[in-house]
Order: sequence, then C-alpha cells, then structure tokens
Amino acid sequence: MEKWRASHRFLRYSSTKSFDLRSKPISEQATCNSSFCFARNERREWKFGNCLSSSREKRGYLGSSAERGIRNEVGFQVRCFGSATSLIQRNPSFSTLNTDDINYFKGLVGEKNVIQDEDRLLTANTDWMHKYRGSSKLLLQPRTTEEVAQILKYCNSRCLAVVPQGGNTGLVGGSVPVFDEVIINLGLMNNIVSFDKVSGILVCEAGCILENLITFLDTQGFIMPLDLGAKGSCQIGGNVSTNAGGLRLVRYGSLHGTVLGLEAVLANGDVLDMLGTLRKDNTGYDLKHLFIGSEGSLGIVTRVSILTPPKLSSVNLAFLACNDYFSCQKLLVEAKRKLGEILSAFEFLDNLAMDLVLNHLEGVRNPLPPFLHNFYVLIETTGSHESYDREKLEAFLLHAMEVGLISDGALAQDINQASSFWHIREGLPEALMKAGAVYKYDLSLPIEKMYDLVEEMRTRLGALAKVVAFGHLGDGNLHLNISAPQYEEKILAQIEPFVYEWTSKHRGSISAEHGLGLMKATEIFYSKSTNTVQLMAFIKKLLDPRGILNPYKVLPHSLSS
Ligand code: FAD
Repeated sequence: MEKWRASHRFLRYSSTKSFDLRSKPISEQATCNSSFCFARNERREWKFGNCLSSSREKRGYLGSSAERGIRNEVGFQVRCFGSATSLIQRNPSFSTLNTDDINYFKGLVGEKNVIQDEDRLLTANTDWMHKYRGSSKLLLQPRTTEEVAQILKYCNSRCLAVVPQGGNTGLVGGSVPVFDEVIINLGLMNNIVSFDKVSGILVCEAGCILENLITFLDTQGFIMPLDLGAKGSCQIGGNVSTNAGGLRLVRYGSLHGTVLGLEAVLANGDVLDMLGTLRKDNTGYDLKHLFIGSEGSLGIVTRVSILTPPKLSSVNLAFLACNDYFSCQKLLVEAKRKLGEILSAFEFLDNLAMDLVLNHLEGVRNPLPPFLHNFYVLIETTGSHESYDREKLEAFLLHAMEVGLISDGALAQDINQASSFWHIREGLPEALMKAGAVYKYDLSLPIEKMYDLVEEMRTRLGALAKVVAFGHLGDGNLHLNISAPQYEEKILAQIEPFVYEWTSKHRGSISAEHGLGLMKATEIFYSKSTNTVQLMAFIKKLLDPRGILNPYKVLPHSLSS
C-alpha cells in the first residue's frame, strides 16, 4: 500500500452525484463532403443462390480527385466515400417525389415538419464522418406513431424509399440516404411515456436523446444501462436500431437484454405493439429482437421500454499505464476476478491513440506525464459502499502494480478529473476526424489475438498511414482506425479485404457494435453463413416486400431489393 500511496497519483473519486458528466456532446453534424474519390479495382464477387452480388456494388468505379460529391451516370450513381467509392444502381422500381406527395405530407404532419430547406437537407443527407452523402429532397419530422404509420403506408403504396434517422451519429453510413430516399427523423418524438421507480422500467419515445434520458434518470436515482461518446446527439431509437454497445456493456450487457419491449411501424404502416414492460414473458417468438440491431431495415422503432439500474453512490475511475498488450489482457482477467461485481467499464487505448488525442483535442493534458506509455487502460468501478469499494480497488491496483501489470496510474479525485479522463477515451473519434482521413473498423475478436491485427496492419501499411487502436477491451471489441492525411486507393488496398479476412479467420465479427450500414452491407458473409444471410433476406422480404425501408443497407443490395 505504501508504494501505491507513494506514487501520489492515485486519488479517489467517489460521488453521490451523477457520474454522467463525461466528455461534452460531439461536434455538430457535417455540413459538407469533401471526400476524395477512389476505389479498388479488383473484383470480388459473392455468389448466393441465384443472386449475384458483386463488389462492383461498392467499388466498381475508379474515380478521380476531380469527381467529388455525387454524379449521375446512365442509371448509376457515383458516390464519393472516405473509404470507398460506390457504384450502386438506384432501384428503378422506386418512385420519385412529386408535388402531390409533398402536399400529402404537409397535410399529414404540418407544413413546418416537411423540410425542403437546402441547408437542413444537406445536414440530414450527410453522415457524422462526412463520408456518406445522399441527395434526398425531403425530410419529414413526425410527432406521433400514427404519423409514422401514415407516412410509411403512403410511401409503401407509392413505392417511395425511406431512411429512418435518429441523431445521425452512426459510423457506417446507415443513417443517410444513398440516393433520394425520404428521410424520416424521429427527433420530435421525444417524450418520456412512463417511469416505474420500483422496477426501474422506463418507457419513452424513440426520438429521446440518450443524454436527456441519462439526466432524467439521474433525478429519479437511476442510470441508463447504455452510455457512449455520442450521447449528446444519438437517440434511443437509433441506439436500439444499431444495438449500440458503448462503455457500460461489460457491466449491464447488451440492449438485447435490457430492452424489454418496443413499438415499431412496419413498411406497410402496421404498428406492432411489443411494448412489454415485463422481465419475463415467454409467449411465442420474441419478435422485438428482430428490430434491435436491424438498422432501420425492418421497421421504424417508435417507442422503447428499457430496464434501468439504480444509480449507485460510489464511482471510481482509474487511468492506468501498461507496458505491453499482454499486461492489458492480464489486467482485464484480474479485474474481472478481483473487482467482479463493481467493475463497470474496462477500456483501452494505445500510445498512438493517446498521441492523437493530445495533438488534436483542445484542452487535453497527458494524465500520466512526462512521456507516453505504450498502452492505457481506464477502469471504472460502480458500487454501493464507498469505503469497501475504495479499499477493494486500491488493493487491486496495488497488487497490479507490484506484479508489474501497470507501470503508472491515477485515480480521479473528483467529477472534473473523471470527465477529463473519459474525454480522452470518448474524444478519440473526434480527434481522428480532425487528424485527416480515417478508415474505421469496429471488430469483435478473441482478446488474446486482438492486438496482433494492429501490429500486422502496421507492417502492411508502413509509413503510408498511422494505425490507431482503442476500444472496449472488456467486451473484446477493437476499434481499429487507420489515420492518414488523405484518402488514397493504395492505402485502402492494403487494408481491405485483409482486415475482413483476418477477422473471419479468427472467427471474429466485422461489426461489433456499429452495424453494417452501407459501408459493410456486402461484407456480411465474412461473419455470417450463407443460409443465415438467406434467412435474413427472407425476413426482410416478408416484412418489407417492396424494399422501401433503408435500401442498400445491412444486406447486399442484390439480396434485399
Ligand atoms: P442514426 O445514426 O441516426 O442511425 C443509425 C441507424 O439506425 C441507421 O441505420 C438508421 O436508419 C437507424 N435508425 C435510427 N433511428 C431509428 C428508428 N427510430 N427506427 C429504426 N431505425 C432507426 N456506437 C456504439 O455502439 N458504441 C459506442 O461506444 C459508440 N461511440 C460513438 C462515439 C461517437 C463520438 C460517435 C460519433 C458515434 C459512436 N457510436 C457508438 C456510433 C453511434 O453513435 C451509435 O450507432 C448510435 O446508436 C446511433 O444512434 P443515432 O440516433 O445517432 O442513429
């Protein structure tokens, strides 16, 4: 204990106040797209039953730097993405908007909720990373489930494609149109329907911003089982639709466990009431799970019922340094064993990630100066007994230091210090954006193999780009980010398909928590068997026979159209 105390770094943080004052909301959404156009010209084809889905769907066009934005070419639309140029044919069975459609929507949701203003459309057409941009001419803002139902019923009858949109913080191009799909944003459906203080069950509309729910629950003595860096903008409907993981999954599990029920509107306008508030209900198939993580491709989620844990009074956060990845792994094993019931987050970042944050995020200081360590780990504990929790964590840290698992560390002493530690981890996506071009991969991998991929990628790329690694180590989720001054075909050619093949070879998942969106729709076979994907396509066809819901996303276009 003396050695531990002698470091003078480890200061305790414990509070009865909310612990959700982490990094501030992410920056405002994009207003323009200046991505560089390029594509891989090698051809990879997926053969599936009678269907043929080709990598041309995504990468068949070799663009030039002059070709920015969106351009029509004899039935094809050339789109410029940060990591790949797409050549997807607009589904010719979809109608285009006319004046009657606009008038119908104005009559339904009111003139002010039918958005045709160019600036607002540009924002809604462009994703958070500025990589994906659609050309929708219409954004609708329904206020009730009934309005959503009427919109979909109408769009289905007219064969107008739609894209459901929440906070537009998605990282795989799922939340913006590919062509001229009508954007349906749930932001006005932001009411809390009920909260049961005995059971902790919250029922709310899909457009509630995650941070607002966190704040509301704090006043009730509860917390959300979900927390992520985009909380200031993302909506619970978007979280459910992407099955977002985030920082607390290691403690509270995935939304498949905590979402007790939901209400969703199908493509034909039928409202499915699955808004149960029971923890146990084995009556037939639990269909809500189809909508959790289906990225708006099966229905629009309009209400959610979620089980929230009570807020506990004692929260501690340690920012630690490790010499090597093996120590991070061992530290995780030890933390699970020794901190057990109070462990609430276990995150890691490597030195390149830390360097990036220090260089690109304003006001961030190295918490463990003077130099950079090879790896950093954030350990959060949440419990109900302040002195017991503190002693437990201190004993754990002391032991970890004695056996050499950690080389340095600091314990947050107040909420500001805790926020500044979290800001380092949560600010990474923003720092990457500021650093230039970023190729983003969100992988589930066996923990012991995870960092091998990072090192192999560094060898492949050499001086071409920086390979930055961080993620939810406690969940086996690596965020592999390749940062370069600009997008270049030769960089992409070194990354893909290698990254997907490597992940598949190690029985990992090419999407741990961000979803497939547009970015990885054609790559699904790296993580799912052919007959599994076939069943998914059948389900899509059953629920959305005309394919109007978020087309070109999640499944290869040739299977879902
Ligand atoms: P959007 O981006 O608007 O949409 C995402 C997808 O869901 C789209 O396919 C859209 O069509 C669909 N959708 C949205 N609302 C609905 C609805 N009501 N009904 C049906 N479909 C709908 N993700 C994580 O999992 N863990 C993290 O830790 C994490 N950290 C992030 C940090 C930052 C800084 C950023 C920018 C993103 C992060 N993300 C993370 C990704 C993103 O925030 C999540 O995927 C989030 O859940 C998306 O919510 P949203 O409301 O912004 O949805």
